[in-house]
Amino acid sequence: MHSWPSPSIPSVPGPAVPIRLYDTSDEAVKPVSPGDVATMYVCGITPYDATHLGHAATYVTFDLINRVFRDNGHDVHYVQNITDVDDPLFERATRDGIDWRDLGARETDLFREDMTALRVLAPRDYIGAVESIDEVVEAVGKLLANGSAYVVDDAQFPDVYFSVDATTQFGYESGYDAETMAKFFAERGGDPDRPGKRNKLDALLWRAARDGEPSWDSPMGPGRPGWHIECSAIALNRLGMAFDVQGGGSDLIFPHHEFSAAHAEALTGERRFARHYVHTGMIGLDGEKMSKSLGNLVLVSKLRAAGVDPNAVRLGLLSQHYRADRMWTDPVLVEGERRLAIWRRAAKSTSGPDAADTVARLRQHLSDDLDTPKALAAVDAWAADAILGIGSSATAPQVIIAAVDALLGVDIAPVS
Ligand code: ZN
Repeated sequence: MHSWPSPSIPSVPGPAVPIRLYDTSDEAVKPVSPGDVATMYVCGITPYDATHLGHAATYVTFDLINRVFRDNGHDVHYVQNITDVDDPLFERATRDGIDWRDLGARETDLFREDMTALRVLAPRDYIGAVESIDEVVEAVGKLLANGSAYVVDDAQFPDVYFSVDATTQFGYESGYDAETMAKFFAERGGDPDRPGKRNKLDALLWRAARDGEPSWDSPMGPGRPGWHIECSAIALNRLGMAFDVQGGGSDLIFPHHEFSAAHAEALTGERRFARHYVHTGMIGLDGEKMSKSLGNLVLVSKLRAAGVDPNAVRLGLLSQHYRADRMWTDPVLVEGERRLAIWRRAAKSTSGPDAADTVARLRQHLSDDLDTPKALAAVDAWAADAILGIGSSATAPQVIIAAVDALLGVDIAPVS
């Protein structure tokens, strides 16, 4: 699939700082040590509804990682999927009386517009589930052949499942105990009580065709892919094993990322799918969890339509740490708008304090597990001084504009 246009990235003077990130699996902040090309896979949307601020927070977070990699001189191979074959898509399409393909195309277009407005750098590979069916079929065939998967004893619906004990390290990604795994598996799309499964946690790899559902031919019979294997196949075929960062919201820690890793590890016999598993906190609204069922989603497209500057949305999202579960409230947006206005006012100054120290602090804080509150505070301090007429560096405003653009993805350049 085509992705979206990336904004250009200005160069920023001074030394870059290699990034350290919290790894869910090792429960520690660790250096990320990419080669020339940093490799990152972030799970994409299921396109049945518009982008809300929880999605925006996740993709803006990984955009910062992408930007810090580039600042450090790495090329970045960034891969993202779109789960354009899944139950929620069919349910919504049926409810609204439209074709699931049209619904998916419409919401994917809106997602591209939202990402473009939020100045998120586009992935190099933006891959739909439909266009990766052959890759999934091949992977499921291999898992069946090497004994990691089995067909349930059901002549009518011969679904294929992955054995949770196919790898010895299963569970290392989330670190969850059996009780927590069982709870999240049931809550997040798993089917513990499917008759014929050998273990309640075994995950669906290939769903045999049902009436009224799309299906594709395969050696396993007609059917469609499970969710976790979609990400395993797409990532493995483009980035290989042991890529640098696997990312998503914290609700993907289990079962999705645990099984995506286990599938890939069972396919290759290698021990670790991603070197870093990085997860963003959940965004709530005014004290409640933001969710489709509560009907309290704040949509990026609605904010845009109301005339909100997407740069202010970005600053609102970055004002708290990415790993914290946090609330989106009117004051968060007002604060983002206020900060954007101050930074833009400072950027118009003909001079300001020397920028080198501010840029160094900005880099230091971002590379320290994306400490965005401190990174924003460093720019706040420079802006406050510049507005007061402190400092005589004539080049400083241009350097700050470039650094805020390149590293935070926020555009404060005066409109010419
Ligand atoms: Zn995924």
